[in-house]
Amino acid sequence: MLSYQHIYHAGNLADVHKHCLLAWMLAYLTRKDKPVSYVETHGGRALYDLSAEEAVKTGEAAQGIARAKDWFSTDHPYTKCLTQTTDLHGQNAYPGSPLIAAQTLRDTDSMTIAELHPAERNALELALPTAKVHCADGFAMAHSILPPTPRRGLMLIDPSFEVKDDYQTIPGHIRKYARAWNVGIIALWYPILTSNAHDNMLKSLVKDHPDALRHEVRFLPAKPGHGMVGSGLFVIRPPFGLAEAAAILKTHFDKLK
Ligand code: SAM
Repeated sequence: MLSYQHIYHAGNLADVHKHCLLAWMLAYLTRKDKPVSYVETHGGRALYDLSAEEAVKTGEAAQGIARAKDWFSTDHPYTKCLTQTTDLHGQNAYPGSPLIAAQTLRDTDSMTIAELHPAERNALELALPTAKVHCADGFAMAHSILPPTPRRGLMLIDPSFEVKDDYQTIPGHIRKYARAWNVGIIALWYPILTSNAHDNMLKSLVKDHPDALRHEVRFLPAKPGHGMVGSGLFVIRPPFGLAEAAAILKTHFDKLK
């Protein structure tokens, strides 16, 4: 039973962290003419209305992108996606990761996305009619299609961590993905939790992929007592320059405290 809906959290500080670095990596990959593949295991609906009741109720976007949008120059890849989204869909529109990918990729590139929730999947297909969308478990979908054609590219794994086993099973999935797609950039988003539930997962990932980039930012919980106090991105085969771009982003998060 799926209960997580990203509309409650769209545009929060974790999205800013993940989407800024995703847009940067996709812009890096598309600097060369060679086509790329974008694979995403947990897509969400791609286009969010931050004036929707759910988003207003949590106030997470007000604490997130509303404060962060001035951090980025007009030519930053994330700013370009934000601007394109509001120009096309109105001032309250916010791009999820599949839309960020669609806005950055070219006609020669390919996009394959899994989304298990039927309503989210329908919205995703409406927002991105040319993407290959699978209404399937994202982890299984990735095992079935890797390595993709073309071979250059990136996979984002952005689970809702509703299934507590995810923390145990993710390192095993990623070990196989990295072997099957031995040139792909593989990025996992994870929450930083007061319970430290993410700790053992990270220990396994770091042991398996010692050259990966582990980048984390911290922030105040969205509500007093909320367990998420930061956002992490673990990137296998990080593109050249990503660590520096992430370090600049972190200086902005550090100033929020
Ligand atoms: N990546 C999106 C973004 O940044 O815009 C947000 C994705 S949200 C964190 C996680 C999504 O995964 C939800 O839309 C949820 O319905 C979906 N989901 C949950 N379990 C799934 C599974 N096993 N396979 C694929 N999608 C799943």
